[in-house]
Amino acid sequence: MVKQQMDPFYASVKKYFDGAAKHSGLHDGLLAQIWHCNAIYKIYFPITIGKDYKIIEAYRVQHSHHRTPSKGGIRFSNHVNQEEVMALATLMSFKCAVVDVPFGGAKGGIKINPWELSEEAKEKVTRRYTHELIKRDFIGPAIDVPAPDYGTGPKEMAWIYDTYRTFKGDDINAAGCVTGKPVSLYGIKGRTEATGRGVFYGIRELLEQEKDMQAIGLEPGLEGKSIVIQGLGNVGTHTATICQDEGGAKIIGISEVEGAIYNPDGIDIHKLLKHRKETGTILTFSGAKKKFKKKDRRKVMEFECDILIPAALENQITKDNAKNVKAKIIAEAANGPVTADAEKILLKKGIIVLPDFYLNAGGVTVSYFEWLKNLQHVRFGRMDKRFNERTYKGLVDLVEKNTGKTITKKQKEFLTKGGDEIDLVRSGLEETMIASFHQIRAIQKRKRSVKDLRTAAFVSAIQKMGSDYMQMGIFP
Ligand code: GLU
Repeated sequence: MVKQQMDPFYASVKKYFDGAAKHSGLHDGLLAQIWHCNAIYKIYFPITIGKDYKIIEAYRVQHSHHRTPSKGGIRFSNHVNQEEVMALATLMSFKCAVVDVPFGGAKGGIKINPWELSEEAKEKVTRRYTHELIKRDFIGPAIDVPAPDYGTGPKEMAWIYDTYRTFKGDDINAAGCVTGKPVSLYGIKGRTEATGRGVFYGIRELLEQEKDMQAIGLEPGLEGKSIVIQGLGNVGTHTATICQDEGGAKIIGISEVEGAIYNPDGIDIHKLLKHRKETGTILTFSGAKKKFKKKDRRKVMEFECDILIPAALENQITKDNAKNVKAKIIAEAANGPVTADAEKILLKKGIIVLPDFYLNAGGVTVSYFEWLKNLQHVRFGRMDKRFNERTYKGLVDLVEKNTGKTITKKQKEFLTKGGDEIDLVRSGLEETMIASFHQIRAIQKRKRSVKDLRTAAFVSAIQKMGSDYMQMGIFP
């Protein structure tokens, strides 16, 4: 019998999992349950485009049901295949567990090129896919909740929501069947920037660790650090913008489908984004000192910098180019950008890798807030904002009166502001990323055999999932 080859991405996730599982102290049977994808749904359905029929291949994989609903995005890409979706669904379980988002993991994939298909065709595909999920009970606020991923965004989520409520009109929580919806249609402020913002919080926290920075020869703090980013999609764009504007970091290299640019003195990300919007390319940007054509764009991985942020797709740093990486830190904003074989080489070189399923968990974290908002049917801050403002103002007035000193209008505004939805979302996200970083770091410090952050993050997630199963009486 011919042994089928596992997809390299799925094989890499398995290698990572197996490497970490032995440090978890859990029973092999329990580990097998944690590893396997619980439900895999593969469908083919037709859509008509003009006078033609197109058969669409699509998937929804629910990796784990230790907590429900299961959660994860839907990807539109020509490269979608079953094992890729399985790998991504698996990462979602660990992602949710590591940041204490109380969901199982899932992922969807539709094999289409979203940039070639018309809006009309995409809407047909999305609605039909949603209908197929409804028929099989594969979607619902208590069952499985999709979200955006590569090639999808708020528009597709609105179509999913509308299709769902058409069939499930009596479900009062219907809006919670999908997250990443437009803000005006039961979405939440801060969801679009969430993954990039979470990446920023994660990187900033690592850079605050004095001893860790000393070990790789960096001064603590993000301010002034040089960053190279691969990919200017939703995640890359927000990561770059927030790291520059709020972290004071210097973006010195960027790659996109058309090529790559480099300037050690810094590239203003706002100017570059404007230029690309107007001209369709980064290659003609005047702020670039070195330019690399489309075929050489992977060279971005080898640029000299403090922090390299792959923010595009999986399998970008492999054993072939890992030895040429010059960054001191690799911050995985994408899912699976570094293969297991490549990571071994990077770790040997003393490079710190911030693992994907921790670092890019900001998206699902804010999805969780959106789902909570949908279930509670009220926006965060609506009930308490004015009450808090009045209380804080009363306190400030009292202090002013008793001390005989006054503060400026600006200081007063800052001290008495009640939290709006966006403030609370950002605060919740910041807390999540910082708390999880320290949970992971504590495992790395406590277990001498656990050398790197990815293994520690896996151990953290595996132990939490294992504990859920055990408490439910499975595998006593
Ligand atoms: N697609 C995103 C991810 O890979 C978000 C998932 C979600 O919000 O459910 O984490």
